[in-house]
Amino acid sequence: MPLHIETPLVCSWPLSLVSGHSTWLKLEALQPPGSFKIRGIGAACEAQVRRGARRLISSSGGNAGMAVAYAGRRLSVPVLVVVPETATETAKERLRLEQAQVIVHGPSWHEANALALSMLEGSDAYIHPFDDPLLWAGHASMIDEVALAGLKPEAVVLSVGGGGLLAGVVQGLQRNGLNRVPVLAVETEGADSLHQSLAAGRLVDLERITSVASTLGAKRVCDRAFECAQEHPIRSIVVSDRLALSACERFLDDHRLLVEPACGASLALAYDRSSELAGFETVLFIVCGGATATIDQIRQWSAKYSS
Ligand SMILES: *Cc1c(COP(=O)(O)O)cnc(C)c1O
Repeated sequence: MPLHIETPLVCSWPLSLVSGHSTWLKLEALQPPGSFKIRGIGAACEAQVRRGARRLISSSGGNAGMAVAYAGRRLSVPVLVVVPETATETAKERLRLEQAQVIVHGPSWHEANALALSMLEGSDAYIHPFDDPLLWAGHASMIDEVALAGLKPEAVVLSVGGGGLLAGVVQGLQRNGLNRVPVLAVETEGADSLHQSLAAGRLVDLERITSVASTLGAKRVCDRAFECAQEHPIRSIVVSDRLALSACERFLDDHRLLVEPACGASLALAYDRSSELAGFETVLFIVCGGATATIDQIRQWSAKYSS
């Protein structure tokens, strides 16, 4: 049995009404550690343990770290997560709750990651949050489930951070004969590393991340994400933090599910009746989820934009 669950695929009446398109949701927010990441990370952790890894190491204080911690507990393998000083108390608590060892180090992810890499010993496996073929193959399973359910969407909407989800969904579409189904790849302003790379025609490093959707805050997407845009129809879309936050609040009302702004960014296309959806009758949204959101934080951020 894999570490992820098969998630519900539902047609959302509220989102269909508001967007004017038949709107299907793949509810990855319901994965036990709170996001789709357990699909790929679970597969990667299992593969590493099969190869003899005796400890799993991550440097993510977000959903990737949560997924590694969850996988380690399920596989009875110790997990070490090195997080920067900026990691929230909630994040550290949740990691410890999953029985991970948490080390706090350095002002940003860069320093935390460097320490994590320096601590790697012979029988340890480092689990990257988005740049690993094992991850992409695992993420692709969500599209296998969609295809098996018999749904043939005319477009897929998803969020992009480092591009692992994008790479996995493209792989899933390709291996199910859905090569021509376009992917609408959504980022927030200030975390738009894919958008800027596609505009420049080469991989671009963002100087800093200014979006509240820190989960989408990879300064640079992986090479594979950029390649995907060469071999698959991909439209890159950037939305504001304000729209992403408002989508989170409305989605909570409509479906009683709390997701991060990273996920709200995708849902914003429906709530904002985005012209990017024009011409598509049936649209599949990957509700990627996210365990780091609290409703208080989302309302606080929202209040900043409405004042
Ligand atoms: C990781 C994550 C993303 C972005 O995925 P990438 O593979 O980094 O592009 C989006 N939403 C949520 C909730 C995530 O955890």
